[in-house]
Amino acid sequence: MNYYRDTWAEIDLSAIQENIASFRKHLPQKTNIMAVVKANAYGHGAYQVASAAVEAGATWLSVALMDEAIALRKQGIEEPILVMGVTRPSDVRLAYEWKISLTVFQQEWLHEASKQLVDGEAVNVHLKVDTGMGRIGARSFEDIQQVATTIASNPHFIFEGMFTHFATADELQSELVDQQFARFEDVVDMVRQMGVEPTYLHCGNSAASLRFPTKLFNIARIGIAMYGLTPSPEMKAVLPFSLKPALSLHTKLVHVKKVEPGDTVSYGATYVALKEEWIGTLPIGYADGWIRRYGENGEVLVQGKRTRFAGRICMDQSMIQLPHEMNVGETVTLIGRQGEAEISADDVARQAMTINYEISCLLTARVPRIYK
Ligand code: PLP
Repeated sequence: MNYYRDTWAEIDLSAIQENIASFRKHLPQKTNIMAVVKANAYGHGAYQVASAAVEAGATWLSVALMDEAIALRKQGIEEPILVMGVTRPSDVRLAYEWKISLTVFQQEWLHEASKQLVDGEAVNVHLKVDTGMGRIGARSFEDIQQVATTIASNPHFIFEGMFTHFATADELQSELVDQQFARFEDVVDMVRQMGVEPTYLHCGNSAASLRFPTKLFNIARIGIAMYGLTPSPEMKAVLPFSLKPALSLHTKLVHVKKVEPGDTVSYGATYVALKEEWIGTLPIGYADGWIRRYGENGEVLVQGKRTRFAGRICMDQSMIQLPHEMNVGETVTLIGRQGEAEISADDVARQAMTINYEISCLLTARVPRIYK
């Protein structure tokens, strides 16, 4: 793909494959790996990551939205895909046509959806159980039982799976994760007593898959760790294997100038030069996902050294302090390595008081992704 700008994200697909290979060794053989590629694979590129993940041993894919699933199908991805968010019942035919598995948990939804299908048509569904996340899913035993009965008895539905999602698997001291495990096990027992056995049972995200590999039933839903990032800072101390970050972000100096004491830089004139100094301009801004907050104490690498932003980040451009005069065209790294120096997505997240997930997800479509 041609592009005409000097800002790009490099995606190392072999790092993603190494991370999957590490999970493959870590998890019991019966546990399938579901590569979570929602939100354009956390900003890394859904199709490229899905293809690489499947090649490395993932047997399932998941996304948040039907649109994301159809886009993958249109690009030729044939593996099973689960839509983990809520789909409109009126769109259930699309799931049938594109062989996409849906998340379900409401009686009314099942009733409406089954009206969209004619004799002989059936969609794969996974019953979502809310064991404590408080987001989506059936909660009470009565509701779960009713929904399970409808799925098992209505010929338009195939009871392919049942799952739940942890709220605190990345917190080492959380009791909620044990409670959620116990609740899910109870629900599984209850459904089995009804004589129903969904093919797939799953509960674990990256954090649970890293910490509790033998408690995941037969699918592990792996997102952030596949991209080489640790689910939370505190989990760094308990990682069973090292993770390799897949994404780095780079740009180039497009302008270099000397400013005098009292000169100001960027909107609001908040940056005031106290002495003669060199300022570089970067062609990256908040419309690329490099939000204004990252400019407050944020750092970048140039010629292997850390330096800071100068003034506010603009929509398409931002300025940095330079230790000395440099040439236009010098590479500046916002995430990644230059020699011995490294700025990780975790560093950016910590400085911006957010989580590493947000950093790559926020990179917008106009940042070219280069695959290697
Ligand atoms: N499962 C569900 C239902 C999710 O919503 C997500 C992501 O938020 C994941 C799995 C993957 O989580 P993680 O990226 O922490 O592995």
